[in-house]
Amino acid sequence: MWIVPEREIAGLMSREAAFEAVEAVFAAMAARDAYNFPVVREAIGHEDALYGFKGGFDRAGLTLGLKAGGYWPHNLEKRGEINHQSTVFLFDPDTGKTHAMVGGNLLTALRTAAASSVSIKHLARKDARVLGMIGAGHQATFQLRAALETHAFEKVIGWNYHPEMLPNIAAVAEDAGVPFEAVELPGMAEADVIISITSAFAPSLMADHISPGTHIAAMGTDTKGKQELEAALLAQARVFTDEVAQSVSIGEAQHAVGQGLLAQADVRELGAVINGTDPGRTSETEITVFDGTGVGLQDLAVAASVVDLAIAQGVAIEVDV
Ligand code: NAD
Repeated sequence: MWIVPEREIAGLMSREAAFEAVEAVFAAMAARDAYNFPVVREAIGHEDALYGFKGGFDRAGLTLGLKAGGYWPHNLEKRGEINHQSTVFLFDPDTGKTHAMVGGNLLTALRTAAASSVSIKHLARKDARVLGMIGAGHQATFQLRAALETHAFEKVIGWNYHPEMLPNIAAVAEDAGVPFEAVELPGMAEADVIISITSAFAPSLMADHISPGTHIAAMGTDTKGKQELEAALLAQARVFTDEVAQSVSIGEAQHAVGQGLLAQADVRELGAVINGTDPGRTSETEITVFDGTGVGLQDLAVAASVVDLAIAQGVAIEVDV
């Protein structure tokens, strides 16, 4: 089997390649060429960590495997390590033999940022100019960098529960040549597109914080109990997701569906919009929400391309198992 260490990923995988891999896999999922296995995600009762497995099989691309890992909230503060830790394992679908083990940390950030960017490309208004950010942690910087490539954004506004972290995203905006302004939550009314990427268990963004026509990529909620948006906001919106089963169980829609404000049948697949079988946004004033829960197939897609690149460039390590 091949090992592609975490340290090699930055030199192998680009934002563009991640965007293409994720857009293609969402389309394959909606066409039923690829499917995700049920997610295991557990609070392990140690270090306040959430740990689990996300796997799947892409019959068209012949990619089989899983990502193992999760979220250790004290890593940064205690050890100087990022809080999100993961490894991707790929298997040969013909034999079941292990094909590769790939560092999953940077890949997770790139594939998660690619998912919200794919949603912004397909669901935001074409004239979107103000990008709102809720969250300023590790993932937020990747989210912002990728989103700035989707539209001609002229300004970034940001709010974070811990305001002292806002310079993290201000630096990304300024590096991309776009001015940044810190706002209070009602100030999000100015945004045409909002990305939320926090580890919150209570909503920050309320229905009366946003304007008609806004697209919201809700990316932080990937576990039962987490929540970033008021449930009533989803009830007013046209809601899309990567995977409906995850959206209503571990994603943002778990709350609106659980409270009877949104029917599971009204949660749509972003892949269907990509394939042209769902119209996506239907008016300039409609609010659209992408509930990005993070699917195993996203990880497998980006990991498979990295393994091919690593072998071709001679940086993959071959070991016997
Ligand atoms: P991080 O620890 O680096 O940042 C956490 C962010 O959440 C910070 O902005 C922090 O200020 C904010 N926050 C913490 N407590 C809060 C609270 N009570 N209310 C509001 N905001 C609060 O984490 P990260 O690596 O940036 O990950 C952020 C979230 O994204 C996590 O929940 C993670 O599980 C999730 N995530 C989702 C996907 C996906 O595919 N959807 C992928 C990766 C990470």
